Amino acid sequence: MTNADPQELAKFSELAHRWWAPESEFRPLHQINPLRLEWIDSLAQIAGKRVVDVGCGGGILAEAMARKGAAQVTGTDLALKPLRVAQLHALEAGVQNVQYREVSAEDLAAEAPSSFDVVTCMEMLEHVPDPAAVVQACAQMVRPGGWVFFSTLNRNPKSFLFAIVGAEYVLRLLPRGTHEYAKFIRPSELTRWAREAGLAPQGMRGMGYNPVTRRYWLSTDTSVNYLVACRRPG
Ligand code: SAH
Repeated sequence: MTNADPQELAKFSELAHRWWAPESEFRPLHQINPLRLEWIDSLAQIAGKRVVDVGCGGGILAEAMARKGAAQVTGTDLALKPLRVAQLHALEAGVQNVQYREVSAEDLAAEAPSSFDVVTCMEMLEHVPDPAAVVQACAQMVRPGGWVFFSTLNRNPKSFLFAIVGAEYVLRLLPRGTHEYAKFIRPSELTRWAREAGLAPQGMRGMGYNPVTRRYWLSTDTSVNYLVACRRPG
C-alpha cells in the first residue's frame, strides 16, 4: 500500500494547470520560494550538489534550486499532472539540470539510498497519511553529512486560526479544504521523527505574513508555518 491519500493527489492535480500563475492558488508558494531557497542555500550550499525535492508539485522550488546551480535536481511527486506541468515549465525555461519522476519517497529511498547531498520536502508532510514514514525515507535518501529540509504547519489554536480560518476563509489565499487541522505537525513531533530516522535537527525558522502588505519573511516564530533543517551525521 502506498503512503498517499488519493483525494489529496486529486486536489493538486485539478489545480495543476495554474501552478505557475503568480496570482493563482499557488501565489503563497511563489512568494515564500525565495525565502526558503535562500535559507536552504545558506546552510547546504546547493551549487554543484545532487538534490531531490520530494512532493515537488509543479516544481517551484525544484526549478529554482536547479537555476541556483545544483548539479542535478530530481523532483518527485505522486500527482501526475503537477509533474507534467513542472516538466513543461523547465523545458520552456531551458532549465536542463532538473528532472521529474512519479515515485513515492519510500520507493525512491529503497532504490537510491544515500544518493543525495540535499533532500527537500516542503509543504507536503501535512498531506500524507504517515508523515513519519516520509521523514524516514528522506533520511535514507541523503548521504552521510548531507542536509534534509522539511516545512509544514504547526498544530495549535493560533495555527488553526491563521492557516485555516485566515488563509482559506478570510483572506482566501488558499482554496477551502486545502488543509486539515488534524494533519498539522508540531515541531516537537517532526524533530522526534527526524531523530528516530537518524537525522540531527540543526535549526528552525518560522514564516511571518502581513496581510496588508502581502509580504512574507522568515522569523523565529514557528507557531504557524515553519521549516526545519536536519543533517545526517557523517
Ligand atoms: N513542495 C512543493 C509543493 C507543495 S504542494 C512546494 O512547496 O512548492 C504539496 C504537494 O505534495 C503536491 O504536489 C502533492 O501532489 C504532493 N503530495 C501529496 N501527497 C504526496 C505523497 N504521498 N507523495 C508524494 N507527493 C505527495
